[in-house]
Parts: sequence; structure tokens; C-alpha cells
Amino acid sequence: MNKPTILTGDRTTGPLHIGHYAGSLANRLQYQETHEQFLLLADSQALTDNAHNPEKVRNSVIEIALDYLAAGIDPSLSSICLQSHLPALTELSMLYLNFVTVARLERNPTIKEEIRVRGFGRDIPAGFLCYPAAQAADITAFKATVVPVGEDQAPLIEQTNEIVRRINATAGGRILPEAQAIIPKAGRLPGIDGKAKMSKSGGNAIALSASSDEIRRAVRAMFTDPNLLRVEDPGSIEGNVVFTYLDAFDQDQDGLAELKAHYQRGGLGDGKIKARLEAILQELIAPIRTRRAQLAEDRGYVLDVIRAGTDRARERTEATKRDVVSALGLFQL
Ligand code: ATP
Ligand code: MG
Repeated sequence: MNKPTILTGDRTTGPLHIGHYAGSLANRLQYQETHEQFLLLADSQALTDNAHNPEKVRNSVIEIALDYLAAGIDPSLSSICLQSHLPALTELSMLYLNFVTVARLERNPTIKEEIRVRGFGRDIPAGFLCYPAAQAADITAFKATVVPVGEDQAPLIEQTNEIVRRINATAGGRILPEAQAIIPKAGRLPGIDGKAKMSKSGGNAIALSASSDEIRRAVRAMFTDPNLLRVEDPGSIEGNVVFTYLDAFDQDQDGLAELKAHYQRGGLGDGKIKARLEAILQELIAPIRTRRAQLAEDRGYVLDVIRAGTDRARERTEATKRDVVSALGLFQL
């Protein structure tokens, strides 16, 4: 029986955070049992806005692999692979760039937002603007049909499918499958300042490897309702980051509904809601942190996992590249 293939991954720009847990990791843990899953350590994509800081990109490879394994990714079920060591991905990217216009790349809402947040102005690295085509190469090289991602990635999957349709139309057959994004209900988790989404590059994250002190400090600094000055004041849930996080991580949704009502009535200060959230996050992260520290002692094992996963991925992606090159009618030697 052929299991459907999943391709998903993370840019190697820093350790994973709880936004990743809510946004994609939790899904990946579930799907590794039922799907053939490839997890891409996207170091080439990380370079598109970090060319000046290759050390960060390099060091994050092991960090993210540790996060995966500590969170419960099982290397006998999921292949963890390294993007820069899969030449077919780069080769397909170059071909795909001919099936997308610059105007379309500039219109992509995710890219627009990321350009704004990064303050690039007109000085956008060309690789950054083009990364949706590279991501289309990543997804299709594995012939993945299922892509579990955070909500911010939906426009990129749309763009991937546009490229797929163009290539199939040119080739006159179904060379590549379209991919379906699996987006969790929780949506995207905001950063602790409540401004942008939580992101590795934004300095607004709680890492899955955070120490218990870091968790405490982050929760204390969290943005709540700026108008709630005294405990007896009625508070607002809307835009209150603590409640957004409770929505994502609190298993006791009935208790949470009561807490929200109390907060809105007044008489419940930020200290109480923060204490509840902190306890939940400490409980989520503590076992991950412990497993991560054990795994970090055995770097050789982690490297072996990445090498084996990359070998499996290489076989798969080279085969797709051969299919595409021939379907596009290029000369065969
Ligand atoms: P960077 O700041 O370097 O872009 P990032 O934190 O945005 O890092 P990515 O590696 O770009 O993380 O994203 C990897 C996956 O995690 C994607 O599927 C993305 O949608 C998801 N994701 C990232 N941030 C969040 C978030 N705050 N909430 C939910 N999902 C998220
Ligand atoms: Mg990102």
C-alpha cells in the first residue's frame, strides 16, 4: 500500500518555538503514522534573508533536528533531510522560475508581509523574492500531496499549485500532483508582544527549548489588555495574547470559557491568567527540554539521522527531476 507523501519543513534560522508546535509540529506527529513524511531542514531557503549570517543558518540545522526528535518525530517513520544537500531541489527551482512572473511573486501576500516585516524596501534579495518557486520545487520534488503548515503558508501552497498546473499543461499530462495544505484551526500564533506572528527571526518567540526561567519571563512580558489598570476593571479578550495562547494550548476549554467570562466581567487580574498560561507552557515544554538535552549529548546520532533521511530524499527528488526534465521536452543525452 502506498501511503500519501507529506513534505513539510522549517527554515534553519533558529530553534523552533511554540508557534511551530501549535502550527505544524503537532500535526506532523500525528501524520507520521499514516503518511510517508519528509521533514526538510530548509537551509538554502534560510540563506535567502540570512546570507550575511551563514553561521546562524548552519548551527540551526542540528538545533531544529533536536527539536524534531525531542518533540517526538520518529526517524524510522519520518525522514529528516537537508535542503542544500539535495541538488534536484535547486535544479527544479531554476526550471520553475520560468513558470512564474515577477509580478506574481511580488503579489504573494505572505512575501509582501515578510518584506514589510524585514524592512527590505526595494533591496529585496532576489533569492528571497523567488523562494515561493523554490518552495514549489521542494514540495513537488517529493510529489507530496499533503503539506501541514501554518496559516501564513497558504498563499505559498496556492502559488505552488499554479506552477504545477502550468507545468502539467506544458507537458500535456499529470506529471506533478497538486498539494493540499493542512492548516490547524488555531491559525497563526502571535508573538509575545502581540504585534506580528511569532517567528524565529522576530525576537518575540518562546522556544521549545526555553528554560523554565525564560518561559516565566516571556509570559510576564506578554501583551494583555492595556486598558485593564485595576483588578476590578473589566478586561478585553480581543487581541489579548495570553488568551490567544490559552486558546491554542489549554486542554480544559470549559474552564477557559469560565476564565474568559470572569476576565470580561472584571475582578480577574493579569497575574491570574498569566499564572495559568505559564503552568500550561511549563508542562508542555519540560519533557521536550529533557529529551532534547539527552539527545544533544549524542551529536553523532543526530547527524546519522539527518544523513539517512537525506539519502532517502535524494533518491526520491532525483527521480522527479528526471521526470520533469523529460516532460518539459529538454534534450536528453
Ligand atoms: P523565520 O522567522 O525565520 O521565517 P518562522 O518562525 O517563521 O521563522 P518558518 O521556518 O518560516 O518559521 O516556518 C516553518 C513552519 O512553521 C511553517 O509551516 C509556518 O507556517 C509555521 N509557523 C511559523 N510561525 C508560526 C506561528 N507563529 N504560528 C503558527 N505556525 C507557524
Ligand atoms: Mg517564516
